[in-house]
Amino acid sequence: MSAMVELRSVRKSFGSLDVLKGVDLEVGAGEVTVVLGPSGSGKSTLLRTINHLEKVDGGWVSVDGSLIGYRRSGDKLYELREREVLKQRTQIGFVFQNFNLFPHLTVLENVVEAPVSALKRPRREAVASAEALLARVGLADKADAYPRQLSGGQQQRVAIARALALEPKLLLFDEPTSALDPELVGEVLDVIKDLARRGTTMIVVTHEIGFAREVADTVVFMDDGRVIERGAPDDVLDAPQHERTRAFLSKVL
Ligand code: ADP
Ligand code: MG
Repeated sequence: MSAMVELRSVRKSFGSLDVLKGVDLEVGAGEVTVVLGPSGSGKSTLLRTINHLEKVDGGWVSVDGSLIGYRRSGDKLYELREREVLKQRTQIGFVFQNFNLFPHLTVLENVVEAPVSALKRPRREAVASAEALLARVGLADKADAYPRQLSGGQQQRVAIARALALEPKLLLFDEPTSALDPELVGEVLDVIKDLARRGTTMIVVTHEIGFAREVADTVVFMDDGRVIERGAPDDVLDAPQHERTRAFLSKVL
């Protein structure tokens, strides 16, 4: 299987704080990778480097064969201009813990905005596909509502529809259910499971172990800026090799 995402020896520091200390990761096309790990281990930073919201200090990131933020020429890497970076970024959907919807726009307009402004899609076309996406996440009847009128679970489903509207090659989720009341977690995980069944390539940072077991092709465990464990869900979750993984799992299970 060809790799949709490849990270090699990725390093990232904030001042003197080394947050990613040489991360290797490979995600095949159509695969779901779940990233586990304690708070502060670098999970969000990892996702942000894949999306080029953070520039790496060492190593490289490639998505679908194109280097994020750089162009390769022989052995040298050249930094891309902001415009080219933005173009690469539109091919990667990002769903945040806190939904980040535009509060002054209706649900439909939230989903329509990026295809029209970033991809220059005809509005009529963008509206039609937004309506189809809202139906897919079970919110066809909320098109004219505003985010504040929705539950957290509904807002997160809108955020997923909005990410899908750009037809991304890759979807990144950063603790998509952590801000939700427990009874709303399931409806969001169900939408992500449906995406997995459709063969969407995804990297999901979550503490939902049941979800990882059911949906992940690969589970990765991060600790202190490194991937210390990687494998099939049953192997990593039931027979972790590292003491740190065992300690973490005993707390979240
Ligand atoms: P996680 O998502 O696993 O909780 P993060 O990637 O958010 O971890 O953070 C890893 C470490 O990097 C933390 O110590 C955090 O405080 C630090 N960090 C993250 N972003 C920044 C930033 N923009 N500036 C300085 N430190 C940061
Ligand atoms: Mg985080």
